[in-house]
Amino acid sequence: MVLKLKIFSFIFIVFTFIGDCEGQNRRKYFDGPYIKIVDGQKDLMWVYKGRVKKKRITSDTIKYFEVENLPRVDISDLSFEVDSGYQYNGVKRFAAISDIHGQHDLFIEILKAQGIVDSIENWNYGSGHLVVLGDVFDRGDKVTESLWFLFQLEKQAKLAGGKVHLLIGNHELMVLHGDVGYIHPKYRYTAGASRIQYPDLFDENTVLGSWLRSKKIAITINDFVFVHGGFSKKVIEKENSIDKINTTFKTQILPNKHIVKDTNDLISNLYFENGPLWFRGYANPKAFDTKQAEYILNALNKESIVVGHTSMPQIISLYGNRILLVDSSLKFGKTGEILLYEEDELFRGLKNGDRLVLNSDDDESRKSIFDYLYEVSDSQTIIYLNTDVNNLKATKLEKAYQDATVSIIDDRELSYSFDARVKVRGNMRKKLCTNPPLKIDFSKSELLSHGFSNNDKLKLVLQCSTLKSQVASLKKEHLVYELYRQIDTLGLRSKLIQVNLVSDKEDQDIYQGFILEDEANLARRLGGQVVEKGIVRPQAMQREAYLKMAFFQYMICNTDFSVAGRHNIETILLDGEIRLFPIAYDFDYAGIVGQEYAVPADVFPIKDVKDRHFVVDDLTEDELKLMIEFYKSKKEGFLSIINDAEYLSTKNKKDFIKVIDQFYDIITSRKKSKRLLPKK
Ligand code: ZN
Repeated sequence: MVLKLKIFSFIFIVFTFIGDCEGQNRRKYFDGPYIKIVDGQKDLMWVYKGRVKKKRITSDTIKYFEVENLPRVDISDLSFEVDSGYQYNGVKRFAAISDIHGQHDLFIEILKAQGIVDSIENWNYGSGHLVVLGDVFDRGDKVTESLWFLFQLEKQAKLAGGKVHLLIGNHELMVLHGDVGYIHPKYRYTAGASRIQYPDLFDENTVLGSWLRSKKIAITINDFVFVHGGFSKKVIEKENSIDKINTTFKTQILPNKHIVKDTNDLISNLYFENGPLWFRGYANPKAFDTKQAEYILNALNKESIVVGHTSMPQIISLYGNRILLVDSSLKFGKTGEILLYEEDELFRGLKNGDRLVLNSDDDESRKSIFDYLYEVSDSQTIIYLNTDVNNLKATKLEKAYQDATVSIIDDRELSYSFDARVKVRGNMRKKLCTNPPLKIDFSKSELLSHGFSNNDKLKLVLQCSTLKSQVASLKKEHLVYELYRQIDTLGLRSKLIQVNLVSDKEDQDIYQGFILEDEANLARRLGGQVVEKGIVRPQAMQREAYLKMAFFQYMICNTDFSVAGRHNIETILLDGEIRLFPIAYDFDYAGIVGQEYAVPADVFPIKDVKDRHFVVDDLTEDELKLMIEFYKSKKEGFLSIINDAEYLSTKNKKDFIKVIDQFYDIITSRKKSKRLLPKK
């Protein structure tokens, strides 16, 4: 509870801060059109570069509202059809997507990738049905775009024999009930500048407002039920007629924002947390199971329920395809999927156009928590690690696990919270750093219920101390991982992320860190297994991979690794291979990183980590040639990654490039490169 309070107060602070910045952004705002029909006249209002524009249209001669950066709206036909029924049978294919939350561009990208609309956003899905399971409103800044798009797509679909269904989500209901707690600052600006309260832009007399009020909360297609949050057992025990539920919503809940909590009353049960717009119980295995799913589906006489509302890293099927969770976190504007049904089969439609068969409770196709963070996190993402920080630091040499709660805040929103354990990891850093590297061990069952794979480890590397120079060193080390992946797909992936170590007693500072892929995650990704034990000689490794790795270490001035000593090298056996492949990690002692505490080991004939020492003592001339050619082909790629690293200062980049240039100076010189060969 303490953690939750802290997070929300943090969110509030950021929010206010952004509110203060509105003035600078308002020139950029484009919004609308909002259209009201009064006595047959169309009153249009929109925001253009921060200025409110109004126009009254009395004749039918103007066909389109067409303004730069705003949706094109056919104002000659603002009528819409209200569906009487809610059941659709014999549908050959459908697509379902949810919780768009103002991420209109991503929404369109997915629809295009899966051929639901064509390249100019027109209906391309024939007699198929597209279901949008609510929560078009709130969070993002392109809500109006999605609404007009769906308003017009609905008509196109109908002409083609298809159908668009927009269902009401809790965020539609909130806005229609006057709750503007989640609207984007842009819409607060629209309301302020136009002097019309945001919910009033969608009142009964507006085109979009009356259209939204005509929408249902649940429909069925073939044997599937669609509803935003879900039908809980509690609700179904009270009422199992979808028709009755839709009618109750439309006539008694939508027009009435003062509903009183009363467990015996149907309206109250439909409105509050266990109601169909808010229920999140399906993804909670502690409170839900296949039996309950069967009970609910029997009562509804259907086979599957498709829901949004509960954000998942991807589309998830649970309880033998009985529950399909399709809110694939579009709200962060980065990733998202669409559920596809075709010829009795279900697919996850990805935004790159791929389709993957959706299997129930299929761990193999799921993202790991690392994969998710790698894809979705950005400079706004913060990992909150709530644990006894003092104890963790005081006992860092013991490397023992202690309890922790891990929360992930994306874009000011709490996206996930897990019970976990955390411990210190690392060799030297656990001794030298006040913030040693950490390993988080998640509970497998918690990961599974949140839609992740059961890959339960997450490695975090933090800035060693609070010194500013340590932030730069950490970022440079991350950059080394980025470069390493250029020589080999075997490189561990890393991503910069902010970490807040939180104790119950006091808030700690936010540190710069990066997440580092766990070997098991890598092995799963590449198909193979990590070999942790046994003696490995460099000579027994896959030779080319070994040489690429050794040259890389030479390039970055790193001698802090040993294959035979299993020091900063993991070994992996890939499927179908006989020899082991090396995976290098922990580059904090590399000269290129310039870490203050780094010194070379006594066994090497160098005094400074910036000096170079080549560890391979049996390199042949042919191998040298091969490596020179290989590294020549990589130079441009290395340089562009360094130059694109906007998280590094110009000086840091220059220093980095200097070290790389020295390496190329050596390998491209006949004389100098020969020194890498064994002495005769
Ligand atoms: Zn929702």
